[in-house]
Amino acid sequence: MRAMDLVFFGIQGSGKGTQAARLAGEFGYEIFEAGGELRKIAASSTTLGQTVKSYIDVGHLVPHKIIMQVVKEAVRKHPKSAKLIFDGIPRDPDQMRDFDAIMADAKRPFTCIHFLLNDEEAVRRLIGRAKIQGRADDAKTETIRRRMETFKTKTLPVIQEYDRQGRLIEVDGSRNIEDVYKDVQKMMKQKKW
Ligand code: AMP
Repeated sequence: MRAMDLVFFGIQGSGKGTQAARLAGEFGYEIFEAGGELRKIAASSTTLGQTVKSYIDVGHLVPHKIIMQVVKEAVRKHPKSAKLIFDGIPRDPDQMRDFDAIMADAKRPFTCIHFLLNDEEAVRRLIGRAKIQGRADDAKTETIRRRMETFKTKTLPVIQEYDRQGRLIEVDGSRNIEDVYKDVQKMMKQKKW
């Protein structure tokens, strides 16, 4: 049986992107990063790019149709043999419904990992990241707060639903990158998914 795809959850700054990159290197996963894909579109000088940018800049979710089209296209263009990590999707119950359908159609079973981190530590990490990566949406406290609020009101219910379905693994994301990765690696090796 092919390895399952993984869907990463965690508040902004929880380190899921970093963990995804390491897992990709070691176990041959390809990463679909929703925010990254949308930032690429936002950088293009098209009407769609301008629309997407206007949402990212203030920390609101980009409209459903746009993000789901991007995800659908990404799933379609990967062969079934590719192992994927999804980072940043699904982020609300509507996205979850469509994401589940896209994955079921493509016959891609998946397991979810939630990287747990408290708010204060998340804000601290994001402000540090803004200095390194120059991301405008990480530098403004108001935008950070809005994204965290969205995470709590819209994404947490999705995580809870996957948990209820028995498809969720939780990892303590407050520790350093190496220790978090050791946990993830251990789970990979024990084939917890
Ligand atoms: P992130 O890099 O995950 O912090 O995402 C940056 C921004 O991209 C978010 O604040 C949203 O504006 C947009 N974004 C990322 N993922 C999604 C998604 N699944 N649905 C809608 N908008 C998204």
